Order: sequence, then structure tokens, then C-alpha cells
Amino acid sequence: MPHSSVPAIPAAVSAKSAAFEALGSLDTQAFLARLLSQQTPFGELAVVSSFGAESAVLLHLVATLNSQTRVVFLDTGFHFPETLAYRDELIDRFGLEGAQIIGIDPLSEKRYDEAGTLHQRDPDRCCAVRKVQVLKRALRPYGGWISGQKQFHSTERAWLERVEWDDIYATWKFNPLADWSADRIASYQAEHRLPPHPLVSEGFPSIGCEPCTSRVMGGEDIRAGRWRGQDKLECGLHRNPNVIAVSSR
Ligand code: SF4
Repeated sequence: MPHSSVPAIPAAVSAKSAAFEALGSLDTQAFLARLLSQQTPFGELAVVSSFGAESAVLLHLVATLNSQTRVVFLDTGFHFPETLAYRDELIDRFGLEGAQIIGIDPLSEKRYDEAGTLHQRDPDRCCAVRKVQVLKRALRPYGGWISGQKQFHSTERAWLERVEWDDIYATWKFNPLADWSADRIASYQAEHRLPPHPLVSEGFPSIGCEPCTSRVMGGEDIRAGRWRGQDKLECGLHRNPNVIAVSSR
């Protein structure tokens, strides 16, 4: 179900759409295995992980298939200490040899947010310089990126598809867990005894930067605690209408 009012996929890349036909019918593991094999028209892909509440599932799947896969963590400088410790724990436990921690370059930080208060005045700008620009730099060598987004996280993500053209980064984006339910996530975590993020049991089912994340109450969307009280729903990494769904589930 493509999102409405999205730009068209550039003609130069639309030819690759045929490759989706071969991927569309695969189960999650097989789909991911194909992506990581580099035997697709997309070449080498990077996994981008926040090492958040459910990240262990995708990271475990990736580590099982190819532990040398590039796994990018965007260090905004504002993560909870629990997230940084959890990141290190998962990298070590899963043997993620291709893990890469990347943050804002010092010159940009000095120019845009030397005092570290931009998130209070202009969170969109803060996300742009601490996440979006950093990810653009990190993705330069890759043919696309793999995300752990899921449809059930919010109404804004209900349209999510497995394969998308990402107009922000002018690259392909893959969401292998797009149609996974909360129950399926929980079952996989239990079956493989994956360690939980320590903040989940504290009332944080979605975990971003500390100043912009609050506890979620019963009945709220999983992402209701992100930028609470603001119009902002996404950090810019996954923003509509810059993303075009090009696969069917
Ligand atoms: S989530 Fe908040 S602190 Fe993190 S980059 Fe965005 S605005 Fe800045």
C-alpha cells in the first residue's frame, strides 16, 4: 500500500524493481539471507540499528547469517547510558564484527550545536545534524540499508513495506521485519533467549535519545513516548513522504 503523494522512483533505479519479484515470496530469514549475500542488484548493504527495545531480533538474525555485516549505530551523543551498555553487550554476545559507531563530526557539532541544546530549541534540526547527515555519510559506500522498522509500531508506520526507495538518501531501504507482530517479536526473543534492553521493563517500549524519550502509558502507541507533546513523530531517518513503498508484502 504505497503512501500517497510520494515522489516517483527515479527512472535510473526503477529497472531494479524486477529484482523484487524474486525477493517478494521469501520468508524473513531467506529474504535477509539474499540481501546479505550481495547476490542482488543492490550490492553490499548496511544494517542500521538503534540497539533499542526490539533491536536484538534483527541483529541476531543478521549475526546468524553473516557476522561481518556492517551494522551502523548512530551515536547522537544523547543516548541513555543503558543503550550504550546494551549496544556493547549485543555486539560482544552476537559477535557483530562489522559493527560501526558513528557520530556527528566535530566541526558540524561546533557549527550547529556546540552547547548541546539544539534538541530543546529545534529538535528537527538536531535530528538532521545528529542523525540524518551522519547516516548519509555512513551509507555512502553501500547500495542500501536494512532497518528494523515494523508496521505495528504506530499508525504512521502501518504503510511500511519490505522494500522501499528512500528519497532522502537516494538509496534502497529494506525492512525485513515490516510485518512482524509484537507477539512474533516476543516469541523470537524468548526462543533465542535474547537479552532485553534494560529500559523496556521500566516502561520504555521505544527508546531513542534520552531528552526526547519518555515512558509510555497503557493503551498508547509504542512510540507515544518519543518527542512527547510535540508534532514530531519521526527523527527524519524514516520520514514520509520521502519513502516510496515498492514491494508488496
Ligand atoms: S532524538 Fe532528540 S536529542 Fe536525539 S537527535 Fe533527535 S532531537 Fe536530538
